[in-house]
Amino acid sequence: LPNFPNIKDLKHFEVVFFDLDNTIYAYDPAHKAALEATLIKFAYEHDIDMDTANNLYREARKVINHRLHGQAASHSRLLYFKEMIQALNHHTRFSDALQFEKIYWQHFLTEMQIFPEALKLIKQLSKRGIALGIITDLTTQIQLQKMKKLKLETYFKHLITSEEVGVEKPHSTIFYHALNLFDAKGEACAMIGDNTKTDQGAEQVGMQFFLV
Ligand SMILES: [Mg+2]
Repeated sequence: LPNFPNIKDLKHFEVVFFDLDNTIYAYDPAHKAALEATLIKFAYEHDIDMDTANNLYREARKVINHRLHGQAASHSRLLYFKEMIQALNHHTRFSDALQFEKIYWQHFLTEMQIFPEALKLIKQLSKRGIALGIITDLTTQIQLQKMKKLKLETYFKHLITSEEVGVEKPHSTIFYHALNLFDAKGEACAMIGDNTKTDQGAEQVGMQFFLV
């Protein structure tokens, strides 16, 4: 379980930013359940076994990650499933690509569980009038859906995605963009996240980083 900073360590900040995936909720259980449900359907429809489906998924993800490295779309499940279909069928089945993406996110959103400690801290910060933001590497559509499903809409003032900014964490541009939106100086802000490679990039713009 993540180890969140104490409200005492955060109360002097004007703005507190959170990473979303695996900081506010547990990523792995949601992803595993979603991927399994999708690949079971994929394997059944293509008459292949689960190992083959898993390998196709890993290969497709590798291709997309490599081609779109540093961009939000490098994490796009739609692109992964579309790539798998192309690799197996040598033509794109348009409705299938959309269908598999839908299955994946439906299961993901259903399985997603907020960390109770995260919710507690978010409520404490909000009560003190500290502005809250999300800085996240993925496409805006699904990140907004996650925030809605986690019932966090009312606590957060802005959500900034790598899709909107064109670069991913730890690039300083995404953090500067967040500071501009809040009209805040880096020194007046904290960033809470689970990843030292990406979220800690906040230190480049003067924010204090808290690893959970
Ligand atoms: Mg994360």
